[in-house]
Amino acid sequence: MNLKELIRKAGRFSSPYRVTDGKNFRLAKIDPDDIGDLKAKDKPRAREALQTGVAALAELQDRLYAQDRWAILLLFQAMDAAGKDGVIKHVMSGINPQGCQVASFKTPSAEELDHDYLWRCQKFLPERGRIGIFNRSYYEEVLVVRVHPEFLQKQKLPAPLVGDKIWDRRYEDIRSFERYLSRNGVLIRKFFLHVSKKEQKRRFLERLENPAKNWKFSAADLRERNYWEKYREAYEDMICATATKEAPWYVVPADNKWFTRIVVAAAVIDALGSLDLKYPTVGKEQQAELAAAKKTLAEEKE
Ligand code: ATP
Ligand code: MG
Repeated sequence: MNLKELIRKAGRFSSPYRVTDGKNFRLAKIDPDDIGDLKAKDKPRAREALQTGVAALAELQDRLYAQDRWAILLLFQAMDAAGKDGVIKHVMSGINPQGCQVASFKTPSAEELDHDYLWRCQKFLPERGRIGIFNRSYYEEVLVVRVHPEFLQKQKLPAPLVGDKIWDRRYEDIRSFERYLSRNGVLIRKFFLHVSKKEQKRRFLERLENPAKNWKFSAADLRERNYWEKYREAYEDMICATATKEAPWYVVPADNKWFTRIVVAAAVIDALGSLDLKYPTVGKEQQAELAAAKKTLAEEKE
C-alpha cells in the first residue's frame, strides 16, 4: 500500500472516534469495549497494521522535520491504567527521537503554582518540525482540579476570580489558546482514552498480582476510583466545551489495548497526512553550490 492510500485508510478508520463539535456529545454513546468492525481474532492482524502505521509515521515525521513549518501537539488524557504510557510507547516507537519530545504533567510544584496554569505547559510546546506529546496536560485544570476543589485553593488565585463560572471560563481560555496555537502552525490532536471501571479494576489487580507490575500501582489511584462518576461528568463537559475543528478530541475505546493503539496511530497518520509535507526543494543558486561542492570533492587528491 502506498502512503497516500494508507493516509486515506487511516482517516476512514479513525474518523468515527473524532469529535469536532461537542454540542451533542455524550460519553455514554461510546462503549469502552468497542473494537469497531474488527473481531477479537483480528488482534494479530491489528498488530501488523500497527507496524505498517508506525513505519508510515516515521516517514511523515521525517518530512515534517525537513520542512520545518508545522509543529504537532498530541495530548493524552485518561483515567489511571487506561494505557496512556503504552500508547505513547508503541505509536511513537518508529519515530526519530530528535523530532519528538514527551512532557508529563504531574501535581504542580510550588514554582508552577506561582504562575498561571498554562505557564508550565507552554514551556514544553513543540518547536516547528517536531512532534510534542503531552502525557496529561492543562486539561487537568478542568478535571482533577474540578473533582478535588482543594487543588484550586492551592492555586492562590485572587478570590473574586474564583466562582461558579471558573470552569466555563477555563474552557473558553483553553479554546482560545488552542485557536491561537493552530493559527501559528501548531496542529493539535487530543486523545481521551476511554476505559471502563470494570477493566480498570482488572488492570489494577494485574498490577497487584504481577511483581513486575507492582511499581505501577499506587494507593492514590485506588482513591480516585471512588470519584469515577465525577470524573465522567468532568470529561464529558470538557469534551463538549473544547472539541473544535482545529483541535478535535478523539474519544478512543480503551478496554482493548491493541485496538486503542491502532485508532491513535491512524488518527496521527491522518493528522500528518492532512498537511502538505514535502522535502524542501533546492533553488537554482543552491544547486550551483551543490555542483561546485561535488566538483571540489571529486578533485580532491585522496
Ligand atoms: P502513571 O501511568 O505512571 O501512573 P500518571 O500520569 O498517572 O502516570 P502519576 O505521577 O501517577 O502519573 O500522577 C500524576 C498525578 O498528577 C495525577 O493524579 C494527576 O491528576 C495529577 N495532576 C496533573 N496535573 C495536575 C494539576 N494541574 N493539578 C493537580 N493535580 C494534577
Ligand atoms: Mg498514576
